[in-house]
Amino acid sequence: MAKAKVVFVMGATGTGKSRLAIDLALHFGGEVVNSDKMQIYDGLHVITNKVTDEERQGVPHHLLGCLPPDADFTAADFRAEATRAVESVARRDRLPIVAGGSNSFIEELVEGAGREFRRRFECCFLWVDVHLQVLHRFVAERVDGMVARGLVDEARALFDPDAVADYSRGVRRAIGLPEMDRFLRAEAEDAGEAAKAELMKAAVDEIKANTSKLTCCQLQKINRVCGSFGWHVRKVDATDVFAKSGAEADAAWEELVVGPSVDFVAEFLQR
Ligand code: ATP
Repeated sequence: MAKAKVVFVMGATGTGKSRLAIDLALHFGGEVVNSDKMQIYDGLHVITNKVTDEERQGVPHHLLGCLPPDADFTAADFRAEATRAVESVARRDRLPIVAGGSNSFIEELVEGAGREFRRRFECCFLWVDVHLQVLHRFVAERVDGMVARGLVDEARALFDPDAVADYSRGVRRAIGLPEMDRFLRAEAEDAGEAAKAELMKAAVDEIKANTSKLTCCQLQKINRVCGSFGWHVRKVDATDVFAKSGAEADAAWEELVVGPSVDFVAEFLQR
């Protein structure tokens, strides 16, 4: 019997993986399996940049927002749960599309546990790439947008001034929470407005710097994983989309990213 097929959409944070996964799902009749280790947790929609209901356009998403904030969830847990989700999508004759930036999870899914996944599923890999300088500028602006959309309220809701700060487990590891700690503590202690404003600026700068660092780490990992396992990856360059806005950006996205990706997946599905 022919193996079921699975598409992976990889890339650093901010490149448009989630959007491409939805575009492909709409085109091919697919469902998305999230592989971002922070978006697996419930809540923190703004801080973790989860796709909104509107952006999902009715495409079912699996492993998105399904864990409580303190739950431990290892790469092996991800392998088990993602395999289950992929199986259920494929069983219904729909295309499973695994999308997200957590490359250690993707590596464990595809190559872990004796390569069981590989034996059962045929995989193709898309990599949405954006020149780093452009991406750094974009993610910095995105952080400002996140602050405007409620980043501070989300952090405040999880902040407990009486507890010892532990940002090493569960969703508290998300970039955006540890960086807000000093500001939220100052707020809880009724610090003056000037001190709070300064701490807020420092927190936002730190979130931007840590997000930029994350993009670099993710790119290194994608290169390493694809190289060491010899995955055949199709790279699509979305850089030029970021120089445009509005309808022009949408048109560039269709032409430069969606078009080549659809061709690549169509060829994979016909094989
Ligand atoms: P690592 O082994 O370093 O955790 P990884 O490939 O498993 O890497 P990444 O997705 O690169 O996972 O996440 C690394 C770290 O980046 C997370 O532990 C978290 O601090 C932060 N991070 C990742 N995704 C998000 C997100 N959506 N929102 C906020 N922070 C995130």
